Amino acid sequence: MPAKGSIVVNELYCKGCELCVSACPQHVIGLADHLTHKGYHPAHLLRDGCTGCDICAIVCPEAAITVFREIVSRKKIEPAIVAISPIPQTSKAITPGFLN
Ligand code: SF4
Ligand code: SF4
Repeated sequence: MPAKGSIVVNELYCKGCELCVSACPQHVIGLADHLTHKGYHPAHLLRDGCTGCDICAIVCPEAAITVFREIVSRKKIEPAIVAISPIPQTSKAITPGFLN
């Protein structure tokens, strides 16, 4: 089963350059119809299908994208949602037990 992911775009930083749109291998990012306070159409998720691969966050020149990925532990059954970008401020944010 492919990993399940999601993104959050910080519209304060997004300039609508579409680099993330072009880079997404799942083709699930597009530009929204509305404008930001700076006058840009911000990126957003169009539909399900994000795998949390992090490529969009890596290519974004404004560091405007945070990627979340659902990870199922090998030791535990419970899934966990972790932020994988930008780099979390503390290691606790990405080590809820299953990575130990
Ligand atoms: S994390 Fe990967 S699959 Fe999800 S929106 Fe970004 S580039 Fe696309
Ligand atoms: S790459 Fe970054 S700045 Fe460009 S459209 Fe995507 S989120 Fe916005």
